Amino acid sequence: MKGLEFTMVDDLLKTKINSVLVEETLDHFAIVSMSDRVGNILYVNQNFIDISGYTPSELIGSNHRIVRSDFHPESFYQTIWDTISHGNTWMGDICNQHKNGQRYWVHAVIKPIFDDQGEIEHYLSIRINITKLKQAEEKIYKLAFYDPLTQLANRTLLADRFKLAISRAQRQKKLFAVCMIDLDGFKPVNDKYGHAMGDRVLVEVAKRLKEIIRGYDTVARLGGDEFVLLINDIADEAALKSIIGRVLIKLSTVYVMDEKYLHLSASIGSALYPIDNVDADILLRHADHAMYQAKQMGRNQHKMFDVSSEIQMNLARQTIQGVKKALDHNELVLYYQPKVNMRLGKVVGMEALLRWNHPLRGLLSPMEFLPQIEKNELIIDIGVWVMDQALQQLSQWVSFDKAWVVSVNIAALHFQSGLFLTHLQEALHRYPNVSPQLLEIEIVESVALGDIHQVNQLIRDCQALGVSFSLDDFGTGYSSLSYLKYLPVETIKIDQSFVRDLLDDKDDLALTEAVIDMGRVFDRKIIAEGVESAEHGTLLLRLGCDLAQGYGISRPIPASQIIPWEAGYTPSPAWKMWSDTKWNLDDFPLLLAQHDHIKWVKHVIASVENPARLELSQAEVIDAHQCRFGHWYYGYGVQRYGHLVEFSNLETIHNRVHEIGTRILHHTKQGDKVKAQALCGELLMVKTEILTRLEALQKVANSLSQKGVDLQG
Ligand code: C2E
Ligand code: MG
Ligand code: MG
Repeated sequence: MKGLEFTMVDDLLKTKINSVLVEETLDHFAIVSMSDRVGNILYVNQNFIDISGYTPSELIGSNHRIVRSDFHPESFYQTIWDTISHGNTWMGDICNQHKNGQRYWVHAVIKPIFDDQGEIEHYLSIRINITKLKQAEEKIYKLAFYDPLTQLANRTLLADRFKLAISRAQRQKKLFAVCMIDLDGFKPVNDKYGHAMGDRVLVEVAKRLKEIIRGYDTVARLGGDEFVLLINDIADEAALKSIIGRVLIKLSTVYVMDEKYLHLSASIGSALYPIDNVDADILLRHADHAMYQAKQMGRNQHKMFDVSSEIQMNLARQTIQGVKKALDHNELVLYYQPKVNMRLGKVVGMEALLRWNHPLRGLLSPMEFLPQIEKNELIIDIGVWVMDQALQQLSQWVSFDKAWVVSVNIAALHFQSGLFLTHLQEALHRYPNVSPQLLEIEIVESVALGDIHQVNQLIRDCQALGVSFSLDDFGTGYSSLSYLKYLPVETIKIDQSFVRDLLDDKDDLALTEAVIDMGRVFDRKIIAEGVESAEHGTLLLRLGCDLAQGYGISRPIPASQIIPWEAGYTPSPAWKMWSDTKWNLDDFPLLLAQHDHIKWVKHVIASVENPARLELSQAEVIDAHQCRFGHWYYGYGVQRYGHLVEFSNLETIHNRVHEIGTRILHHTKQGDKVKAQALCGELLMVKTEILTRLEALQKVANSLSQKGVDLQG
């Protein structure tokens, strides 16, 4: 094309224009004009008239400037003039303007025409319309540098802007900030209302960000709901925080879309150039880490990059990515832990507990990976998966006529996401043969930290579908009582930390008692978790808590083992014995004495294997008055039960226990393990005997207190 033009221009020069105009091909595409030495138009062809929108009379005599647009700076035109006024040809692209204001692009060749004396007489300009080409080029440029959805800078342009920001900061000796923004609650919007709505939200976010930052700063979108700000000329951290404060407010203002009110916010992490680093990629990564931390702090937070937490964040991030992959690769699995009614000696339900079958690290407990993802939206996907798996398992058990209630743990973030009810409905829908009554949702008190009335309504809505609720880890949370009022859960689970030490710790005993009483007042069922032994269970039964779950009954096991486990399960005989009676609180120490004795025997036997680690003092082993059982026996015990023969029956056998214990200790000290071990069998037999006698005492004590006999009197 260019070659053709040149040839033609040369031809034209020979024939002094006219001959050109008769040239049809040229006339077909060329926009031709001729001006005098100062640029006043002397001649235009029809194409010029058409593309400029002016009439010939408007054009002729006017300066060529008439078609200028303000696209180019003055210096651009100056260069053209410099070139042609020195007798040279100028060639290049010019953006001109139609009479109606619309811009068009031409590729132009402007050439001086000389008179006979060799002086410049005219300028000839031949142009072709390249508007379409320019538009296509712009489109390509935009695609290469801008995010098509929001028209914000993309990663490539951001890299470019980084270079500019760095040189600007170096020049002006100022800081600039890199801020990574991730929306909170975007995924739920996307999932609930569809991607089109999600896109509209992103466009709105982009608009808000553009409004808040200055022209020489940059807003970029990296993809998904991730945005980056480059903020120039930052005086100090405080100045940045105040800008980010405004961004947080702006992004958390309600989004009204199709009469829907969407509540989103943002988590923002920032890093400063050159304080945190001088490399663009590293700065971006640091900002990303800080954003991640902000996310972990909850919604709507800003966090500055902090080196010390970087390692920790890296780990958390790896966990999230790992779990995401685990979910996709079917590495997650549910174990089930039975719940029993101790009074009836019956299995009543199962708690589904997550495990990660890690290809390298083996079976991982949820505590090894869930804490890091609890605040990440991935926990929602996990919740959906868990519900589905549990229902699938239930439908299998139902087909075997096993009507166990299965409970699933739902994280607060999922419960408050606005999606939970839908997820639950969808899950129930997929398993029509499972009655919703068989599904229980375990939530923790912190769900109430959101909008308590909304949470209350959500629980009721779920209950209307037939499912029930358990309030997990009760006692570890907030002002439990006041929350309880608003959380219409059917069951309260006493946290295992209290249950575990029930037999040793008076405070935990008091707390457990209080929770059980509270359950009665509020008319809720009470289940104890962390029931590690039959004694724990007995004590709980006597306190009025019939439901239990814990290692003392069964550890969490794979689903396939549940039916065989149940077939072989026999509840502790002690539970049956005590199930019909109501325990007098004054007799608790008697139960604790039993526990103390069991523990004493356990410690003595363990010392044979490991003498250095004997957890009792020498006096406690040797002296029947010095062990905990002895303290009870010769103190509270004798006062309360001293007149009962079942009580006096205990003394000789207890003395015998210490006799054997002393001998075991002696042999162990002498290094005669064999003799010590031989005595252990004897000790266990005596232990059984003492427990039988204790039980006899317990029964009598209980029946007397049932009859209203005041033992102390
Ligand atoms: P949780 O819901 O309170 O579950 C009870 C935890 O106590 C389980 O730990 C269980 O194995 C353990 N446990 C039960 N009986 C005893 C006992 O007698 N002694 C002791 N020491 N521990 C006992 P696990 O399976 O490691 O789960 C820990 C926590 O992880 C759960 O506490 C729950 O908060 C969370 N979790 C487990 N599965 C899921 C899940 O699918 N989704 C969510 N969001 N959280 C889950
Ligand atoms: Mg639970
Ligand atoms: Mg729990």
